[in-house]
Amino acid sequence: MRAFGNKIKIKEDVKTIRIALAGNPNSGKTSLFNALTGQVQHVGNYPGVTVEKKIGRIRYKGKILEFVDLPGTYSLTAFSIEEIVTRDYVLQEKPDVVIDVIDSTNLERNLYLCLQFQELGVPVIGALNMTDEAENLGIHIDEKQLGRILGIPFVKTIGTRGSGKEMLLDTALQVAEGEIISTARHLNYGLELESQHYRLIDVLKTDPEFGKKYALHWMAIKLMENDREALKKIASEHSNADLVLQQGEIVRSWIEKHFGEDSEVVVCEQRYAYIHGACREVVKHDSGSERIDFTEMVDKVVLNRYLGLIIFFGIMFLIYHLTFNLGNPLSDGIDRFFVWLQDVLVTFLPAGIFRDFLVEGIIGGVGGVLVFFPIVLLLFLGLSFLEDTGYMARAAFVMDKFMHLFGLHGRSFIPMMVSTGCAVPGIMSARTLVNPKDRVLTIFISPLMMCGAKTPVIAMLAAAFFPEHAGTVFWSLWFFGWLLALSIAKLFRHVIYRGEVSPFVMELPPYRMPTIRGVITHVWEKSWAYVKKAGTFILAASVIIWFVLSFPKPHHIYEQHEQAQQQLDSQLQSVAAEENSELLIQNIQDKKDSLDAALAERELKYGMGGRFGQFIEPVFRTCGFDWRMDIALFAGIAAKEVIISTMGIVYGIGETNVERENGNITLKEKLENDPRYNPRKILAFMIFVLIYVPCMATLAVVKKELGSWKYPLFMAGYTLVLAWILAASVYQISRVLGIGG
Ligand code: GDP
Ligand code: MG
Repeated sequence: MRAFGNKIKIKEDVKTIRIALAGNPNSGKTSLFNALTGQVQHVGNYPGVTVEKKIGRIRYKGKILEFVDLPGTYSLTAFSIEEIVTRDYVLQEKPDVVIDVIDSTNLERNLYLCLQFQELGVPVIGALNMTDEAENLGIHIDEKQLGRILGIPFVKTIGTRGSGKEMLLDTALQVAEGEIISTARHLNYGLELESQHYRLIDVLKTDPEFGKKYALHWMAIKLMENDREALKKIASEHSNADLVLQQGEIVRSWIEKHFGEDSEVVVCEQRYAYIHGACREVVKHDSGSERIDFTEMVDKVVLNRYLGLIIFFGIMFLIYHLTFNLGNPLSDGIDRFFVWLQDVLVTFLPAGIFRDFLVEGIIGGVGGVLVFFPIVLLLFLGLSFLEDTGYMARAAFVMDKFMHLFGLHGRSFIPMMVSTGCAVPGIMSARTLVNPKDRVLTIFISPLMMCGAKTPVIAMLAAAFFPEHAGTVFWSLWFFGWLLALSIAKLFRHVIYRGEVSPFVMELPPYRMPTIRGVITHVWEKSWAYVKKAGTFILAASVIIWFVLSFPKPHHIYEQHEQAQQQLDSQLQSVAAEENSELLIQNIQDKKDSLDAALAERELKYGMGGRFGQFIEPVFRTCGFDWRMDIALFAGIAAKEVIISTMGIVYGIGETNVERENGNITLKEKLENDPRYNPRKILAFMIFVLIYVPCMATLAVVKKELGSWKYPLFMAGYTLVLAWILAASVYQISRVLGIGG
């Protein structure tokens, strides 16, 4: 086996064969795509993750194969964005082969889509995926026989392990070269429907140009199904459009009268009847496999309307607790390492700008963020686990009704939950919402969720100021983010976006034991992004912030400071000669220290950053923030992790040389020991961090998704005001009540 996964550039002289991977949601398209191309694409276990087409190329047997991973669909009607993307791709791009990825444990329903591809007139191969699971369930499929009945080749595969991929590739090549015929099939819909069908084909034929462009069999069926998109195409492109549409009308009402059902339903039933018949021929079930259906049993509990909600929030509670309690000691370990590194540098490098830059700017800034790697990693681990077991789809199902209470579409759950990792993909996944109002609304509230970048900030502050209940505080902020997002949605729905919520069908895949490889891929992808961001973006931000906070230096006061110190030094010498002078010496030493501290403080305030912080301080005083916090918040608009970097740098610069040389302590300890802060202020601060202005990457993706800057600007504005109001309320109320002081 050669050349799997080689990244290659296309050369003009080699023929490219284009292969589309389509199939029902969760049938394993992305897994198979990854196995075939050697890429690592996100494998999502609930619909809507793959709305974008993903493309991968490999060289195989002298040909270039280009794979496209299409979004999952059950059908090719044009009811959802996934269906439209898939159908348009197949119709317009005309791939050489469509591989229909089929979940073998659910053959009948999956074949429904397969038939539609055949009717569309494209060459199809059926990949009977999840063979392992089907065998476990005692389902045996005779793929040769199935192929003979349907007239297309079938190959058994296991997407997660990549087994069957050579066979699949060979078959695809043969189909593309015409060595195997994958029949474009017109299904037999029974005598009565057939005669109607041919009447429609006859009128469609009256425009030969139209006939060249579209498969008329398929168009005729779409006419019977009253397919909006197909009707539109006929209306705009067929030269006898009126006649055709009229004939369609007649046929549909004939069917309805004759069968007593909507014509779409009749057509659909015929397809299922055909499939059902085919399956009876080729599927053997192990006799006596009276397996208790695990999935059904668990679902009885998990999908309960009320219990389900408690279970969902309970599971998240556990995840946040575990993340915190397991991650925090690891974080502390890394923290000690960086502190040790700072100590080493302080000891071995001469005092000066360069040392300051390295110790305060780079290690204080980037190190401060890297410290939280274990916490972020564990959070992603928990989320991936939920996704891969199939639980997340259940959560969406239970939350559906709950979301309706707030005027949200059930599918909004997905973008919101993805935003718990990062709002950027969260906002992109809002594309699964077909109704533009639902989509805009979801995009507006997604950044209120606790994301992977706010996580370290909030985890650190919770650990420093609420040591007894840190895990609970951490989760509570996540929960608060949810409630807030939902309430804001309700408000917007009332004020700006009146409208009905459209219905939603949630696909429930069976529970699965996640594969180790799957979970690792998942977690690695996201956590590596965190480290990469620390090494690039956060690094650059830290350098800038260090510079802005360090300069200009108050040169005019240095001389005065030196003189004052020298005076104290000479006092110290004269006193040292006397007897019983310990107390006096201590006294003078204290004076010296506080002079140093005052200098460090003045330097910090004299720098550009310090001046800016003091300038905006009055605005946030109501929330209990001082100018140090204000600078951190301001810098955090670049990325929320930068809040930590900035605090680290502020504390680093604010230290005196003596403190520095006496050995560093961690940022968490510095915050904890700082008499300026108390739980009340920090709680207000955490709430502010959760809500205020989304980071730049999020704002940029909102602009990209919604096409205008007015949306991100509005978001930045409303979140800032909301954050201020809530933080100020929390601070002022707890002050009046006298708690957390
Ligand atoms: P998609 O929605 O069609 O792209 O499906 P995914 O590739 O995201 O797969 C859905 C889930 O099924 C994931 O948890 C995969 O790990 C799992 N999966 C995919 N193929 C197989 C397979 O052949 N056998 C088993 N047991 N699991 C699979
Ligand atoms: Mg996928």
